[in-house]
Amino acid sequence: MNFFDFTGKYVSALRSTAARMLLLISSVLIASTWAAAAGKALQIYFVDVEGGQATLFVTPTGESLLIDTGWPGNDGRDAERIVAAAKKAGLSKIDYVLLTHFHTDHAGGAPQLAARIPIGAFIDHGENRESTDGPTVQAWQAYQKLLDTRKYKRITAKPGDTLPIHGMRATVVSSDGVVISKPVPGAGQANPECKNAEKYSADETENLRSLGTVITFGKLRILDLGDLTRDKEMELMCPVNKLGKIDIYIVSHHGWYLSGSPALVNGIDSRVAIMDNGAKKGVTPSAWDIVKKSPHIEDLCQLHYADEGGGEHNVAPELIANPQGPDAGNYLELTAQPDGSFDVFNSRTQKTKHYAAR
Ligand SMILES: [Zn+2]
Repeated sequence: MNFFDFTGKYVSALRSTAARMLLLISSVLIASTWAAAAGKALQIYFVDVEGGQATLFVTPTGESLLIDTGWPGNDGRDAERIVAAAKKAGLSKIDYVLLTHFHTDHAGGAPQLAARIPIGAFIDHGENRESTDGPTVQAWQAYQKLLDTRKYKRITAKPGDTLPIHGMRATVVSSDGVVISKPVPGAGQANPECKNAEKYSADETENLRSLGTVITFGKLRILDLGDLTRDKEMELMCPVNKLGKIDIYIVSHHGWYLSGSPALVNGIDSRVAIMDNGAKKGVTPSAWDIVKKSPHIEDLCQLHYADEGGGEHNVAPELIANPQGPDAGNYLELTAQPDGSFDVFNSRTQKTKHYAAR
């Protein structure tokens, strides 16, 4: 063997070893990526926007959906809290921002958010229908300005639509005052709560236009109806329950009495309810009672201690993210597994509570 033969063989041996190593490394990488994706959870951040809404979903495929943007003003307080949650989740962009309706505590924060983080698309119910309310008109116009930049895709969703996000299934159940005509798959049972249900007068604000979704992740079902009012809840829940049973109920309307009828709350029969209330916003004691006494509720969690609730209508301190006193903007984070189990983390106590699959 001359020197060149030797180096040739040596190099080709090296090459094939390198190739094998590469193959090994890449298959390990592929396997671990697959395992991570398969075993990975759905993360939901309940950002404290002081009685508005901002709920961030991050799916195992890394896609994100933010439901509502909190309030405008306050030097971008709400937008910064949302961006902080997004960073914690490892996001550099929010794929979809859904505005349930154009009230200022939901849509008002959109421009400040857009100034701080890239957004892929906005999802809404269509036009603003409340042209008599100054702050709502302002929020709507600011949103139009964002859309006019042509930087964002706009999706106007209708009942029955499935949102384009991957890694969880988000089905629209209400939009622009219209609800789904047929029950979602698996739902449609008679709702005993309808029999003696109160008759509610029709809401005339943006609330009844709320873009509501049922989100399915593995065995887990999550409900968010924005501020959808009781008159519309009756259309969803009577005479048959079109939504079915829900595991995690994002309490409508911050726990205010104009939403959260017994027909809805007892019909969906949730395990855990999370209330995006403020210290002085939402949480009517009568509405709080309905959630707290619903048939199989395990826990109600609150983003804030409710001043109006006093000792009788607030949950145990460990289930509250922000107690009385100076506000720290603590959040709740829910980690959902496809088998139906989930964990709720309170950023104030740094404690996590586990809920087993049922
Ligand atoms: Zn609201």
